[in-house]
Amino acid sequence: MQPDERTFAMAYETQIDALIAQMTLAEKIGQMTQVEKNSLSPQDVTTYALGSVLSGGGGNPTPNTPQTWAQMVREFQQAALATRLQIPLLYGSDCIHGHNNMVGAVLFPHNIGLGASRDEALAYEIGRITAREMLASNVHWNFGPAVSIPQDVRWGRSYEGYSEQSSVVIAMSRAYARGLMAEGVLPSIKHFVADGATLWGTTPKQNDFASAANWQAATDSYTIDQGDARIDEATLRQVHIAPYIEAIAAGALNIMVSFSSWHGLKMHAHDYLLTTVLKGEYAFQGFLVSDWMAVNQIAPDYYTSVVKSINAGLDMIMVPYQYQEFIETLTLAVQQGDIAMTRIEDAVRRILRAKAWLGLFEQPFGNESLLDSVGSVEHRALAREAVRKTLVLLKNEGQALPLAKTSPMIYVAGRGADDIGMQCGGWSIAWQGGLGEITPGTTILAGIQQAVDPTTVIDYRIDADFDPAVKSTVGIVVVGETPYAEGVGDTADIRLSAEDVALIQKMRQHCDQLVALVISGRPMVITEALPLAEAWVAVWWLGTEGAGVADVLFGDAPFVGKSAYTWPRSMEHIALDDVLQHPERVLFPFGHGLMLG
Ligand code: BGC
Ligand code: BGC
Repeated sequence: MQPDERTFAMAYETQIDALIAQMTLAEKIGQMTQVEKNSLSPQDVTTYALGSVLSGGGGNPTPNTPQTWAQMVREFQQAALATRLQIPLLYGSDCIHGHNNMVGAVLFPHNIGLGASRDEALAYEIGRITAREMLASNVHWNFGPAVSIPQDVRWGRSYEGYSEQSSVVIAMSRAYARGLMAEGVLPSIKHFVADGATLWGTTPKQNDFASAANWQAATDSYTIDQGDARIDEATLRQVHIAPYIEAIAAGALNIMVSFSSWHGLKMHAHDYLLTTVLKGEYAFQGFLVSDWMAVNQIAPDYYTSVVKSINAGLDMIMVPYQYQEFIETLTLAVQQGDIAMTRIEDAVRRILRAKAWLGLFEQPFGNESLLDSVGSVEHRALAREAVRKTLVLLKNEGQALPLAKTSPMIYVAGRGADDIGMQCGGWSIAWQGGLGEITPGTTILAGIQQAVDPTTVIDYRIDADFDPAVKSTVGIVVVGETPYAEGVGDTADIRLSAEDVALIQKMRQHCDQLVALVISGRPMVITEALPLAEAWVAVWWLGTEGAGVADVLFGDAPFVGKSAYTWPRSMEHIALDDVLQHPERVLFPFGHGLMLG
């Protein structure tokens, strides 16, 4: 399918209108309802004529395999096809760095790393391969790309953004979305808008809402995620709305609305930005989906929340749990005249348009013949190439890098060296990610072992407990962040942990030259530790293919990554506009990335 086949879908307009004319109110509201898969059975999809089901982070079948995924989604789809009008279901999942909930899928580097590559062709290919692994499991809708433009790296979602600058975000997200669309997957451009511009400390607390009991998202650890953006409209448009305009031009038919607010008004209630600007001024023809339970945050009572959000322009609601309550509430609001039937029909038309564009009316299933290619050698080779291109060489003193493959011995330490979960980061099998063998892949250590000469001894001790009497010429220490997602990752302190610094110090005693690799979902404050190693490399959260690290460390591939984020020098100045006020507040500027030779 071509990206601009939005026009092709337009040919369906008459058929869509004819379909809407046959629909009962219950069937229309069913289309607007999205339920998370653990809250219902396939039979409920038939009973309520539901339009969409999703897997949230970690919303996996048991056991979690590509085959059980395909079966799960197939059964939900069959249930939709058993309804009176046989309108196909749209199944969605967060496949934000590969089909990342599914064990066995290839996981790519997170966007923060891909931004450093600046490689649009690579982003397009990643979009294509992700789409194919999704379609193998019958999933047609990806809750990505995020086009967030993070302005404060204390944000727990910094890594979902390609860059702090919109030009990089636009180029990379557009290429990626095109790759998804080329294979027949619907992207969700998110989170509209300025989710990356919220101010530290502005997240509303749970007890600000009477419906708090119903709202699991914002716990007290959330400090900037879901907060308030206090920027003027010119900045909002030039920086944060810009990627949406580009995505609409590229044919995007779905946008996810942000949990956050603009000057105190929740985006989910923002009729000016959702309806006047996005659907009016920018002529967005697709549908707006709410974020997870975000509607519940609008007003103390659920009825008002539903009325406000639908009237503001939301078309599909990611309920995601108590969908009967949502259906009853929306039905009542229509019956009482608080929501016009024209608004309901506009929402349904937009949803059906996306389904028609996907070709779901002709072929509601994905392509299970692709199951054999999930996590294939070819797909992993692409992810390994991506890893090579995302690494940023921060420092390289005394030509510590590249390493010789024939060193007699290399010491390796640090909990990130041999841990697939740690190198994958958040949104990996579980919502928050996890440590250990969460899914098949190659660790950084395994990649090093494969790369060196057979005569080279790789001595790996996680805590650097090496024989003090035997010094190695070369040591590699892998430190960094434990995986997190969303506001759980909001943190006031972005320095390396005391344990990590102590480990680097210990490692220093055991080798002549030390290479430090930082695994992270954000730039970290590493200023004090920087003198402890000759070479420093940002490897970000790189996914399942850790061998890409060795490719570059041992000189088989060049360092090409340029940080798409500014690295702050100290904890005193972290917010980007604050950091950029004085050059001395910057440790490594946007675009930093050394090259060898
Ligand atoms: C879900 C995520 C969702 C989050 C929101 C989690 O339980 O798995 O997908 O984003 O809740 O709070
Ligand atoms: C997140 C979205 C995600 C959704 C579904 C929400 O909590 O904010 O980015 O797409 O959950 O998992």
